[in-house]
Amino acid sequence: MNGRASGRAEAKINLGLRILGRRDDGFHDIRSIFHSISLADEIDIALSDSGGVSISVEGGGGLVPADGTNLACRAAAAFMDRAGLSGGVSIRILKRIPAGGGLGGGSSDAACTLRLMRDITGLDPGLFEIASSLGSDVPFLLTGGAALVEGRGERITRIEAGDFHVLILDPGVHSSTAQAYADWDMRHPGLTIRHSRCDLPTPELAWHEGRPFPVSLCNDFLPLLVERFPAMAETADRLDACASIWGLSGSGSCFYALFRSAHEAESLEASVPRRFSPVLCRATCSAGVSSNW
Ligand code: ATP
Repeated sequence: MNGRASGRAEAKINLGLRILGRRDDGFHDIRSIFHSISLADEIDIALSDSGGVSISVEGGGGLVPADGTNLACRAAAAFMDRAGLSGGVSIRILKRIPAGGGLGGGSSDAACTLRLMRDITGLDPGLFEIASSLGSDVPFLLTGGAALVEGRGERITRIEAGDFHVLILDPGVHSSTAQAYADWDMRHPGLTIRHSRCDLPTPELAWHEGRPFPVSLCNDFLPLLVERFPAMAETADRLDACASIWGLSGSGSCFYALFRSAHEAESLEASVPRRFSPVLCRATCSAGVSSNW
């Protein structure tokens, strides 16, 4: 089969993230509001009659694998397998989302690859199941927007997307999700006992009474990560001093500050030292999904 398609793979931020407990299968149950943002990688996919899955990656600072372990390659291979297709898949990724930033970059590349493969082939061999097998954040990123995400990422309750401006700050350290959960496990030996405490709002309350953001942006990883990484502690201190609404995305290392107006966001962006690689973007209502999807 021949054909090609291009798309945007948008990042996500976590508007609050509570870890509720560890499950028997080793995964953790979480509760978090995921929200798509306009910071995005660009992906081109070309299908041909022969050859395997190949990839080239531009950007990413050497942190993004350009081989079969890249999540986009794994997504393409899983799609071909499930759809019973043979032939070549050539993937080109232009990285803009910081790798290992808790912004779901790899997961969004995988989700975008699945969408593009579906567009090119006209086949849907079970995208949600493939997405779930690739990673906990991939199912949400298939469609993006805003959602309360529970379980290990498979229980997705859509909520109305917000309209706000976002400043991303990157402390420049690589925070491994597996390590962050291991740190959490060490501190919580009774992990199989569920937390009853959970102040993240229900979907109906998320934007309650015209609030521009959810009630709580508390992230259970934050206290652990600021201890482990001085650069993250410095970023959190800086945001605490000069932004009224800010949080940590996923298991780090990127932080965000939220604003109602572009002017407020631009003012803070201008004052932040360049070593934090500040990026201005907006909340979006899709993961970069084209309107014909
Ligand atoms: P996670 O929570 O899954 O760790 P993250 O949002 O913190 O994700 P990613 O940008 O997805 O961070 O990168 C995590 C790691 O996944 C990278 O360090 C890299 O080794 C690997 N990876 C595999 N495929 C990709 C991809 N397409 N883009 C970025 N990283 C990828």
